[in-house]
Amino acid sequence: MRIIRKYHSVKYLLKNHKIKLLLSILIIFCLFSTYYVFRVKLPRKKFASNLNVLLISIDTLRADHMGIYDYSRNTTPNIDKWAKDSVVFKKAMTLVPMTYPSFSMLMTGLDPFQTRIFSNYQNPYAISNNTNTLAKILAKNGYHIGVFMSTIALNATTNMVSDTKDFNYLNYMYDPEKEAYVDSRKDYETLIDNSLNWIGKNKGKKFFLWVHLMDPHAPYDPPEQLKCKFDKKQCSSIKNKAMQELINQTYKTMECQQKVSKDTLDLYKTLYDGEIAEADILAGKILNKLKNEGLDKNTLIILYGDHGEGFDHDYNFNHRGALYNSETRIPLIIHYPLITSSVKTTDRLVTNTDILPTILDLLSIPRNKYTFDGKSFSYVFRSKLLTNILPEQRDYIIMTNDQLTKFAIYDGRYKFIYSTNSACKFNDQKEEFYDLKEDPQESKNIIVEKKDLAEEFKRKLLNYLSVYNLPSANDEKDKKGQESTEIIEKLKSVGY
Ligand SMILES: [Zn+2]
Repeated sequence: MRIIRKYHSVKYLLKNHKIKLLLSILIIFCLFSTYYVFRVKLPRKKFASNLNVLLISIDTLRADHMGIYDYSRNTTPNIDKWAKDSVVFKKAMTLVPMTYPSFSMLMTGLDPFQTRIFSNYQNPYAISNNTNTLAKILAKNGYHIGVFMSTIALNATTNMVSDTKDFNYLNYMYDPEKEAYVDSRKDYETLIDNSLNWIGKNKGKKFFLWVHLMDPHAPYDPPEQLKCKFDKKQCSSIKNKAMQELINQTYKTMECQQKVSKDTLDLYKTLYDGEIAEADILAGKILNKLKNEGLDKNTLIILYGDHGEGFDHDYNFNHRGALYNSETRIPLIIHYPLITSSVKTTDRLVTNTDILPTILDLLSIPRNKYTFDGKSFSYVFRSKLLTNILPEQRDYIIMTNDQLTKFAIYDGRYKFIYSTNSACKFNDQKEEFYDLKEDPQESKNIIVEKKDLAEEFKRKLLNYLSVYNLPSANDEKDKKGQESTEIIEKLKSVGY
């Protein structure tokens, strides 16, 4: 009787239209929930882990000389156009303003105070074969690796990308002794064209492609049509000078050897910007190739500058020695196909050590078995895939130069610079303190006006450094005694 009564009550419920409606809503809700879990979340993760990775690195490219970073000259139209769909990092910094240390940080996610890589002149195999690098981790995760390198300073990265079959290398640097480029501009352009062919050949595979563009590194020698593109007034002065004379002048002004006039400074900036325009054309070719092959929808693209160039103080050309933002601030732009946020720029303080852990997050590669000093900033992209990832806080960064004679602490607004030994007779200040919000050029030392705050920064800096027994760069060389003298001599001969 009880069963019959139950049967009748169910029948009654099904006949009731209101109940029917409620049941229908419940079923539709369950179906949608299942769809969300399996259709949205899982494929997103799968999609992320199948993304290709393209790294375009541009040597000596100052962020503030690019259109996307509000430069007044139209130096980077191709990159600017692409960057509209990307996140632009306004406060990205290298912890050492020199090529090899910068790429070591990018490739390993390790702090230079840990790896003790501060200079181009160190042992090229200073990073052990056991160190996990971006290329090695990606290779383990099924990536096919291609590297197209155009500088001798990155020869040292060979062991960071070991087991890479497609490693293409060119030494496109000027050798003042030979008064010529070690390899020609034609070879340089062929190297980039080969990277385009590589994309075509490997589009069916999951790949990591790294292309390094050597311009706009000194000497500032852009192609003829770009020499005076940005300042017609400079044209006559550029055209009347032999390139050799300009190049020789460039070398003389390096390393704080002499002050230069405003005219000379303007001339170098015009030539330097011409070289940036050349790098932009080459970067544009690579980005267009990716788009034409339909790969832009499933490729994580990183545009990275290894360090800046010192134009802001009229005695300090080149890079490596000083810790002003002109040398330590870098361009960093990332295009992530899964981005769901409207964030297009961020003022978050990030460093080159942060990029590797971030890339792994963006590709859904677990990073719990790796140790990095860098902190992931993947939360910036706010993809649904990444909702569980919380911001990793960073209050300040510590920087140094290649000689370990200057150290700086920077919190995104204030910077304290401590010099143990100044090689520059134009600047022998032992302690400098700048408010970059008010004085982005770092031209007004406020160490006296902001004495207490400067002291606090100095204390934090010295506390940080006290953990490390830091020898000078020379002591380090003597102690190790294993530098490749051949590479060091080559680097010196081409102006590094
Ligand atoms: Zn460099």
